[in-house]
Amino acid sequence: MTETLTNWAGNITYTTKELHRPRSLDALRALVADSAHVRVLGSGHSFNEIAEPGPHGVLLSLGALPPAVDVDTTARTVRVSGGVRYAELARTVHEHGFALHNMASLPHISVAGSVATGTHGSGVTNGSLGSAVREVEVVTSDGASVRIGRGDERFGGAVTSLGALGVVTALTLDLEPDFEVSQHVFTELPLDGLDFEAVAAAAYSVSLFTDWGRPGFRQVWLKRRTDQPLPGFPWAAPATEAMHPVPGMPARNCTQQFGVPGPWHERLPHFRAEFTPSSGAELQSEYLLPRSDALAALHALDAIRETIAPVLQICEVRTVAADRQWLSPAYDRDTVALHFTWVEDTAAVLPVVRRVEEALEPFEPRPHWGKVFTTAPAVLRGRYPRWGEFRTLVDSLDPEGKFTNAFVGDFLHPLS
Ligand SMILES: Cc1cc2nc3c(=O)[nH]c(=O)nc-3n(C[C@H](O)[C@H](O)[C@H](O)COP(=O)(O)OP(=O)(O)OC[C@H]3O[C@@H](n4cnc5c(N)ncnc54)[C@H](O)[C@@H]3O)c2cc1C
Repeated sequence: MTETLTNWAGNITYTTKELHRPRSLDALRALVADSAHVRVLGSGHSFNEIAEPGPHGVLLSLGALPPAVDVDTTARTVRVSGGVRYAELARTVHEHGFALHNMASLPHISVAGSVATGTHGSGVTNGSLGSAVREVEVVTSDGASVRIGRGDERFGGAVTSLGALGVVTALTLDLEPDFEVSQHVFTELPLDGLDFEAVAAAAYSVSLFTDWGRPGFRQVWLKRRTDQPLPGFPWAAPATEAMHPVPGMPARNCTQQFGVPGPWHERLPHFRAEFTPSSGAELQSEYLLPRSDALAALHALDAIRETIAPVLQICEVRTVAADRQWLSPAYDRDTVALHFTWVEDTAAVLPVVRRVEEALEPFEPRPHWGKVFTTAPAVLRGRYPRWGEFRTLVDSLDPEGKFTNAFVGDFLHPLS
């Protein structure tokens, strides 16, 4: 079977023409053991070449393996197989009376692919999605299975792994008791006089949206746990109609607003599982930097908003609590995440991406691993104090670099 393989956004065409879909774990092990270069494609929602296996490499999907979502109600954990997406995981977890601590803006993404790139939602007390992972099961280069759990000295590199350790066949995640969330949207929050800390902490999860067409934020989305107090939000006016963060897109694609309480997994994402998330025709970039620099970074972007606005659909500002994964963009620092949904035009967008990176440079931003960025590998290494330990881990599990593609190799191997 030959096909043209692209990512979700369509801006990346993989050089390989075949997507291998093993139907059993044994077939997967044999394929890995017999191949020189391998990468896994999750749900393909990344915007760069992180999943590219190279012209002679094997690209494989776990989509034909039997899916498993096994809730352990006593241990309060869930073991989920490598191909499962958050929508399916969340439904099952909820049916058992449990919850995940947070979700990204969309439930369409695979769990394994999301945590491999440091994917996150929002909330000053909420770590990235990978911070819920307590054990990873990986098929390594010789086809053997390795389990790496919390407490193992390798664990710091095991979750946000860029797909470089092997095929993640299952993950075990922490659960918490089920909770409900109500979502409240406000409009026109000024940047002048913004108390970022107060706004970011006004609810369990807070997102600010702007088109940078003029100063300030067009929308603020508060996601409140109903077991926590109703937030006062004196800084902006409540929305009078249901909203989509991207101008011109229909609000029915979005999760319920106007404070109607509902299950966590139907409120924490912005986009409903049964519709196209975001705008569908787009590129994305995102930079994560210390939360203490949020206001200064927002003013730095405001100073170049006339450059940004013409190629921007929407910019989203979120927070992420520090975590301990060596390659997590939120490693060891409470973080503000500055996200850009660009128009679908790489040539027009790239110069602006560079301009944004220059403006944010003083704040040592770490780009989202799954989105468009131009930061040089040497600069990136300087922003990850534990990258050397990650390289040692890759060398120990995959000495021949079967899972190291060009994207990962450029980061891990400085030119001598
Ligand atoms: C509309 C949209 C909205 C988004 N919203 C958010 C958001 O709210 N927050 C955020 O942080 N990000 C967001 N993202 C980015 C997205 O979460 C990441 O790109 C994430 O990696 C997507 O998961 P995936 O399964 O599609 O990964 P893929 O793009 O398929 O793969 C990503 C990496 O993971 C590896 N990988 C995947 N599965 C496995 C496996 N089983 N074993 C080993 N390696 C594996 C791949 O080889 C690749 O290196 C969004 C993207 C889109 C398109």
